Amino acid sequence: MLSCDDVPAEPLQPTGAVVGIDMGTTHFLTTSDGVHVANPKLCDTAAAELADAQRHLATFPKRTRQRTKKHRAAAQKVTKLYTKIRRQRLDFHHKLARALVRDHDVIAHEQLNTAGMTKVPTPKPDPETPGAFLPNGAAAKAGLNRSILDAGWGQFLMILAYKAESAGRLTIPVDARNTSRTCLECGHVAKENRVTQAKFQCTACGFTANADHVGALNVLNRAGLVLCDVV
Ligand SMILES: [Zn+2]
Repeated sequence: MLSCDDVPAEPLQPTGAVVGIDMGTTHFLTTSDGVHVANPKLCDTAAAELADAQRHLATFPKRTRQRTKKHRAAAQKVTKLYTKIRRQRLDFHHKLARALVRDHDVIAHEQLNTAGMTKVPTPKPDPETPGAFLPNGAAAKAGLNRSILDAGWGQFLMILAYKAESAGRLTIPVDARNTSRTCLECGHVAKENRVTQAKFQCTACGFTANADHVGALNVLNRAGLVLCDVV
């Protein structure tokens, strides 16, 4: 259950400000104002600990599982770490959503591709052992971290939408395709425009900027088009 006790009961005063956000892996998100919001550090550390604990748990031979104190302790550690990560992430999402809603009347964000998200390898709970996980091969540390981040975006957007609605703010989901590949200057769309993870350089006109910032500005531009259709 989400805890939303801190949502204001009354609508907030208009700020006159609009923002687009680009959700990424290098940063949790980047705003159209060029502000990068880092992934929560504690969460990263706990995710690494969790991967270690799960690897350790998987080393117990199947026949001894649930029968030894050591196995129970290892399973308990995994459960505790999961709880810790969930709590940290929820807290981070609430704080970030609250700040965005406080400072902006309209918040545009990418629509999540949920079909794509399910392809990410996820830890499989062991049905025979509560708190334990079956080894799933593909869920190496990177995959695990990735799945934690992906799950995080959905939760964050849900909290953001809830807080925005309670405060009389508007959230606009937009088509996420090519947001970080589209030139802000000339509109040229190409994969090659994104030179590196961080750098955008248009192959047509030479416009250069931070790639996540470009993504956030394109998200904001698309929301503008959506608003024009409505109003
Ligand atoms: Zn260009």
